[in-house]
Amino acid sequence: MKLCRFNDDRVGRVDGDHVLDVTEALSALPTLRWPVPRGDQLIAHLPEFVAAVQALQNCPRMRLDEVRLLSPVANPTKIIGAPVNYKKHLEESRADQGIHFDRDIKTIDYYGLFLKANSSMVGPSEGVALRFTDRRNDHEIELVAVIGKQADRVSRANALDYVACYTAGLDMTVRGTEARSYRKSIDTYTVIGPWLVTADELPDPSDLDFELTVNGETRQKANTSDLIFDVPRLIEYASSFYTLYPGDLIMTGTPEGVGPVHAGDKINVTIEAIGSMSVDVRNA
Ligand code: MN
Repeated sequence: MKLCRFNDDRVGRVDGDHVLDVTEALSALPTLRWPVPRGDQLIAHLPEFVAAVQALQNCPRMRLDEVRLLSPVANPTKIIGAPVNYKKHLEESRADQGIHFDRDIKTIDYYGLFLKANSSMVGPSEGVALRFTDRRNDHEIELVAVIGKQADRVSRANALDYVACYTAGLDMTVRGTEARSYRKSIDTYTVIGPWLVTADELPDPSDLDFELTVNGETRQKANTSDLIFDVPRLIEYASSFYTLYPGDLIMTGTPEGVGPVHAGDKINVTIEAIGSMSVDVRNA
């Protein structure tokens, strides 16, 4: 099933180029009082939610291009980033002073992971609002795995059992000398969407073509088979340090072809078996 969040926190089931408003199925979720459990409650109760969606009849139907798409996960406890997780991106980072800033670039097994502030997260319709426009602001297309259940020290053999859904992400980055978690946490610098694809529809994330264009021109084009740490290894690696909760987002890293964007640009992100999203860039 493909599920989106749209307009004023409506929940939609994506059906081709239309969306069915299935917000009523939220009644399958428990009513909570403070302090609420950690994790996104729709993702934590996804099986019950999906069953409730399937039982709905006569849902309002709209064209997808007439709704505003928000991030399909509303309340992750963490947005996890994977630094230098494609070999050709390692090579381009080492060759480009505008990326490496005279630092020796290594790979993910050296750096570990980083976190992006949850407050940086938006959906495709909200766009990217650039800050520090005297510096390079780069696009990074990434496959995103959405954790479905609490995961503590999970082995790679079982890791995919912990994935509820997949989606696409833009890990926007202002280049510079500061720590990644700071440079990649500017408001709107984490774009998630266009919707979730449940893992039963996408059982194997290890061979997905994906492409990013800016104003129609291809900038990044690769396949998830090029990942240095694949999705199971990333889950093993992340959960060896901290517990993952439902709705936590693992941004799996970006391939070669990163480059700057400017106000007025339109970024298009497409991942096989997931879909496409279009993101407008403006100055904050
Ligand atoms: Mn990245």
